[in-house]
Amino acid sequence: MRVEFLGGVRTVTGSATLLEKGSLKWLVDCGMFQGGKELEKRNWKIQPYQAKDLLFILLTHAHIDHSGLIPKLVKEGFRGKVICTKATRDLCEVMLQDSGRIQEMEAEWQNRKGKRAGKGEAVPLYTAKDAEKSLRTFQPVSYGEIIQLAEAVKVRFQDAGHILGSAIIEIWVQERGEEKKIVFSGDLGNFDQPIVRDPSIVEEGDVLWLESTYGDRLHKSREETVQELLKIVQEAISHRAKVVIPAFAVERTQDIIYTLGQSIRSGALPPIPVYIDSPLAISATEIFKKNPDCFDRETQKILSGGENPLEIPGIVYTRTTEESKAINEDPRPGIIVSASGMCDSGRIRHHLKHHLWREESHIVIIGYQAEGTLGRRIVDGTKTVRLFGEEIAVKAHIHTLGGFSAHADQKGLLDWVSHLRNPQMEVLINHGEEKISMGLSQLVSERFHFKTSVPQWREKRVLFREAEKEMPEGEVKEALPPEEPLSVLLNRLDRRYKRLRRKLKTKKKKGEDADHPRWWRQLGEVHQKLEELEKEIE
Ligand SMILES: [Zn+2]
Ligand SMILES: [Zn+2]
Repeated sequence: MRVEFLGGVRTVTGSATLLEKGSLKWLVDCGMFQGGKELEKRNWKIQPYQAKDLLFILLTHAHIDHSGLIPKLVKEGFRGKVICTKATRDLCEVMLQDSGRIQEMEAEWQNRKGKRAGKGEAVPLYTAKDAEKSLRTFQPVSYGEIIQLAEAVKVRFQDAGHILGSAIIEIWVQERGEEKKIVFSGDLGNFDQPIVRDPSIVEEGDVLWLESTYGDRLHKSREETVQELLKIVQEAISHRAKVVIPAFAVERTQDIIYTLGQSIRSGALPPIPVYIDSPLAISATEIFKKNPDCFDRETQKILSGGENPLEIPGIVYTRTTEESKAINEDPRPGIIVSASGMCDSGRIRHHLKHHLWREESHIVIIGYQAEGTLGRRIVDGTKTVRLFGEEIAVKAHIHTLGGFSAHADQKGLLDWVSHLRNPQMEVLINHGEEKISMGLSQLVSERFHFKTSVPQWREKRVLFREAEKEMPEGEVKEALPPEEPLSVLLNRLDRRYKRLRRKLKTKKKKGEDADHPRWWRQLGEVHQKLEELEKEIE
């Protein structure tokens, strides 16, 4: 059986893996790359398969970095089924259409800019209409149900505890008369996360794909994090200031609503205006309310007590732009929850423009901020940001609260892995920044003695090699990546390096900052890699 890593390796976005068993081809996740032009170019690259040849897509959850390229695939001729849980399907309905609208807007903007520069017409990756059409291919399944997808393939979706509908996917395949089991952790949640159930324990597996988003750190406990948030809100109230929370529309927003609601109901927090300023988050909240069967016991209990865990007295949902603008005219202290979670697009950017420069305002970062995003720069302590063509000073209080994360931390990941019993199991670390994935790979190998590795983008591998041994040589070789001659790559590297030197030189000449610590760090990494390679060749 062969696999190819199409995304979500050595980076957190673009999750997609191609699995191939004889003539049977399918994907696990079909996510969009996000976070910078270079990475996003991959969304356009020709895929190493024909969309029409894929039999199905197994979808772990609705986040765009896992589902975002499905409409593109359907547009290109995919006629199979997207298998996922019902809540994932419901969420995809709003999220993919929203993504389609963003793609359309971006192409429009490029066109306006491009026309002035005399460039060709930009087309969207897909449209909202394409996204709507793609929903027909979705086939919801229940948690825990074993589904036979082909004669030699069956699957089961289990709770991943990450967002509503999220799943760990178990796949059983017949390999020369032997049954082998592949496990995709998907994005794994925390054990004490509200609303959704805890991640299911998996004990058996021959190959495991393990996410590593927070593989290098430990979150504070939820209790501590909630206390921190309450302190921030109380301080804002005493200074009649606002708290701005960039939050992913799905799960983080509902988590914050749940937490604030509990705190106001219990009296830990006085009633305070809470604005949910994201049409997507509002639609997602509606979907949460329609899928109470996915809730954990605690949330069910609140529900059966007659309270709505996703309601707060005084909560204001703002759908229109006018309503959104009115928030900033409200002189009362308040909490603004808006998207996108990484501050790269959406209404949050208007609120940041309004509040980053105010010393009394508080910005509370609760989710993962990928490299290259505005959110990451704010967390890293940038002194100014550019928003809507304006230079904005960062004077507000910036807080990072890890305990609200929808991802398990290092301990959570290791605890979850500890239940897997097969000493021969192979672990492939994905969904993390390169260094973090490498670190977790080493840790898992040391602690559990599993064979671990961090795949490369577009790398191909053969799974269950022993079983494949009987195959004629030629066929196995075909699974290796088509390599371009080393000399071509070296020339490209030379050119790129020279271009970089030139760019930095021009910057320096212009008196601009040519010594950015981030560039320094990245170049340092390149240098180290070259050094390692040199040693290896010796
Ligand atoms: Zn996710
Ligand atoms: Zn993800």
